[in-house]
Amino acid sequence: MTKLRLAIVGAGPAGIYAADILLKAERKFEVSIDLFDHLPAPYGLVRYGVAPDHPRIKGIITALRDVLDRGDIRVFGNVRFGIDLTIDDLKKHYNAVIFATGAVRDADLLIPGADLVGSYGAAEFVSWFDGHPDFPRTWPLEAREIAVIGNGNVALDVSRMLIKHAADLLPTEIPGNVYDGLAASPVTDVHVFGRRGPTSVKFTPLELREIGELNDVDIIVHEEDFDYDDAARAAVAGNKQVFVIDKVMTAWRKREVGAASRRLHLHFFAKPLEILDDGHGRVGGIRWERTAPDGEGGVVGTGEIRELPIQALYRAVGYFGSPLPGVPFDKKRGIIPNREGQVLRRDPSAGSGGLFNQQMYGVYATGWIKRGPVGLIGHTKSDAMETIKHLINDAGNWWRPEAPEEDAIVALLDSRGIRYTGLDGWHNLDQHELALGEAAGRVRIKVVPRDEMVDISLGR
Ligand SMILES: Cc1cc2nc3c(=O)[nH]c(=O)nc-3n(C[C@H](O)[C@H](O)[C@H](O)COP(=O)(O)OP(=O)(O)OC[C@H]3O[C@@H](n4cnc5c(N)ncnc54)[C@H](O)[C@@H]3O)c2cc1C
Repeated sequence: MTKLRLAIVGAGPAGIYAADILLKAERKFEVSIDLFDHLPAPYGLVRYGVAPDHPRIKGIITALRDVLDRGDIRVFGNVRFGIDLTIDDLKKHYNAVIFATGAVRDADLLIPGADLVGSYGAAEFVSWFDGHPDFPRTWPLEAREIAVIGNGNVALDVSRMLIKHAADLLPTEIPGNVYDGLAASPVTDVHVFGRRGPTSVKFTPLELREIGELNDVDIIVHEEDFDYDDAARAAVAGNKQVFVIDKVMTAWRKREVGAASRRLHLHFFAKPLEILDDGHGRVGGIRWERTAPDGEGGVVGTGEIRELPIQALYRAVGYFGSPLPGVPFDKKRGIIPNREGQVLRRDPSAGSGGLFNQQMYGVYATGWIKRGPVGLIGHTKSDAMETIKHLINDAGNWWRPEAPEEDAIVALLDSRGIRYTGLDGWHNLDQHELALGEAAGRVRIKVVPRDEMVDISLGR
């Protein structure tokens, strides 16, 4: 084996880091990598998930772009695996494939009323405010009182974007339609619900502190939630992150409130039971049960039921991966089943209920589709290192493609009439968006419609 022809599907951080790590790794063979993404722009959730008012994190795009700009990875944007390209195509042209397709849809919230009009998945809203081309351009921001369910950073992002004054978002890269929508929002109160106590949240301290600094927004916390038990006190004393979170909230408990025109309420020990119908099939309220610490770091229901009127609800209870045609999928966990990145299929002798315990040679996974939708961008780097280690060690078991020449895949995409975009295309789009931003005195204005993105990328 003198050369590894590798396809990577997914140009988010996981896919780009995997390519970079392989190119820099000690190995006895040459490498040629093609990176595919179904979007015309690379960077996955860094572009289409990270909130626009987090420019420092968005700035990771610069580091990812530096990797691509080195010129040793071919990029094919606007190519959808499963539609434009199949696993059989990849077997014909490559020695191996790494799937780095992430997780973009919302995990289900299984309570009555979750499908009422006005109940939205956080992932859909995030895709809207980050200008994802495959989501509607308008968003119904008609509610004054809104509930957000979840106690992780996505819940904080969604709450912050809902309650922040649109003028404070104007300097960011939000698309024009998003600014217009947020500017017209009548929201006054956002209520964030978590089943457990303040010392069990999954917020990171930096993101939590940030909501306390929003212009003209009061943070409302409730004294009843801070009657800590031994487990909570031990968490504050023994975990630096929890210590800082407690410190931030302690400061909020002492703050004067009442002057701001908008409020962000944090409700802990609150287990949502039902989203209430307003009588017309729309969200009209939320019913929850007060919980209490169980003494071991968990919570139990107290039987005390409470209600609150709301007109919209956002479910920020996690993301979930999507299956890819011809690739094994673990429906329970929403991931491609794998052992340290080596994709596993079911034991064929055990039928459809068999365990995923047979290595599917030539097929690898990395990032959120490998591990599940938890963790920060940096974690996808260690993920990629593990996957690449196995890819290199498995050299004897790679596929033996019949047409590995670099031109062959280009000819295939051309023959199918696919309007793929390359790295030059990304540069064109990037320059165009920066120029739009500059003309309006803003960082960047994102182009949203897919066809327009492709046209600009292709210089048409
Ligand atoms: C709302 C939100 C905010 C976040 N904020 C932060 C933050 O502030 N800081 C931080 O460190 N982390 C943050 N994260 C986490 C971070 O985004 C993830 O850790 C990281 O993006 C996961 O990388 P990935 O490459 O596995 O997946 P992704 O980033 O999702 O990339 C997957 C890529 O695969 C492509 N793809 C999917 N299906 C196909 C297909 N069929 N064919 C071709 N291509 C396909 C997608 O278009 C995408 O480009 C946030 C996540 C979310 C959801």
